[in-house]
Amino acid sequence: MAAPTGLNAPLSITFLGAAALFITDGQTRLLADGFFSRPPLLQVAFGRIQPDVPAIRRGLERAGIDRLDAVLVSHAHYDHALDAPEVARRCGALLAGSESSANLARGWGLPERQIRAVLPGERLVFGAFRVTFLPAAHARPNLAAGEIRRPLASPARASAYRDGGCFTLLFEHPAGAFLVQSSAAFLPGALAGVRADASLISLAALGRRPEAYRRAYFEELAGRVGARVVCPIHHDDFLRPPGEEPALMPRWMDDTPAALRSLEAWAALRGVEVRRLPPWKPVPLLPTQA
Ligand SMILES: [Zn+2]
Repeated sequence: MAAPTGLNAPLSITFLGAAALFITDGQTRLLADGFFSRPPLLQVAFGRIQPDVPAIRRGLERAGIDRLDAVLVSHAHYDHALDAPEVARRCGALLAGSESSANLARGWGLPERQIRAVLPGERLVFGAFRVTFLPAAHARPNLAAGEIRRPLASPARASAYRDGGCFTLLFEHPAGAFLVQSSAAFLPGALAGVRADASLISLAALGRRPEAYRRAYFEELAGRVGARVVCPIHHDDFLRPPGEEPALMPRWMDDTPAALRSLEAWAALRGVEVRRLPPWKPVPLLPTQA
């Protein structure tokens, strides 16, 4: 197992609900995904949705975010990417993601100089962070598959926010490495050769998959990369912002308790620590910082 290095770097992570995470080493400030608006279910299902700018402002304030170097978008579904362009605009950040995510940003009017469309396997450097956009799969069911081929203006149907291809985000830093998997699926072998001290993995829709699939997912995303800490993300009810304690996804959406039990059982077997991230609170992530 690769030993983490640079034990003194103050790397912290703040869970913002769904798959949104604020990551900083005190110098460089990164956001994975960007989702603060919580359009109600009926609007998502039958109406049109758009970024809720006051909710974005409140969310950024609550998380203590005023400036960002980059917003890194895992895929262009609304519960990941809806607010990323406005967050990038307010925080003077680069928005990096697939061509579909770039088209969301263009539709919102983010200047082209703040947009970076990346291809699977591409790596960007922000301060001491190296961020690699590794190819990834999307969980089933995928209710909005395909590409966003033109700038997408809002309001728009939730189904117009097509995934545009998924990335596993790999963060490498002198303090250690971690990965963020924002959708509960895997491409077998996609992480060959990748090492990470911690894995932050989506549980959304995993409660509906067979136990064998869940175990294979944990093994691919955390086991084979050598993670010693695994943090569930996207396990909370994304129809509302997380409170002090995140509410789990409602039972009609997913059986999150079953997915959490599987994760605990797998982790106990493998000697991996399961760490639940408190919403809105920066916490050290890497095993040596615990
Ligand atoms: Zn998705």
